[in-house]
Amino acid sequence: MDDLLVCGGLVVDGTGAAARAADVRVRGGQIAEVGSGLRPDGERVLDASGAYVTPGFIDIHTHFDPTVFWDPLCDPMPQHGVTTVLVGNCSLSLAPARPEHRKSLVELLCYIEDLPSEVLDASIPWGWESYGEYLAATEKLGGFAVNMAGMVGHNMLRTYVMGERPPCQPPLASTRTGTNGRFPAARPTTPNWPRCSTCWPGTASSFSSSRPRPAGRCAGMCSGWPI
Ligand SMILES: [Zn+2]
Repeated sequence: MDDLLVCGGLVVDGTGAAARAADVRVRGGQIAEVGSGLRPDGERVLDASGAYVTPGFIDIHTHFDPTVFWDPLCDPMPQHGVTTVLVGNCSLSLAPARPEHRKSLVELLCYIEDLPSEVLDASIPWGWESYGEYLAATEKLGGFAVNMAGMVGHNMLRTYVMGERPPCQPPLASTRTGTNGRFPAARPTTPNWPRCSTCWPGTASSFSSSRPRPAGRCAGMCSGWPI
């Protein structure tokens, strides 16, 4: 790894200490020295004037588990200073997954990420069922631009064990009538989304492009996603 001297930046070291002007020397991939007026010692020098110099950020909620198969650079995470991403913490992961559950999983991911399913169909080298087999598939990529830590999605675990159950409650009629047209009709390439952490994955058969999107939030789904 290149040795580096980062000069002239404002260092925010992540300890809670106040920002301070300092130079940072990196040797062998590790911080070797932090101080003022550090002199170059044969390393590559990076002028950080006007910029913050910080530890890498950790994004604790991403869906890069499929993305790495078509974008191992994990764009735009590095540009944002993110050096570690966490996947699977909102219930979704690419494993464990039986072959008959892949389609529903792809539909879900495409809806959340607003991606055409063709991208995932063409990019994900399905062949695994267990989480370990999924990890082995990612290791064949030869590394990513960021560190990736994975959690086993509880929805996938439940589906793997219990299968796609029928809905356990009426299809959210009260919330459907309460939307008052605030939400647009579902996009044609993605399923309308009546699912919640209680019902999913049992509502896979109830997709409807004409059903209004229910109001409220699904506590077990992608946080912040209104359904
Ligand atoms: Zn999520």
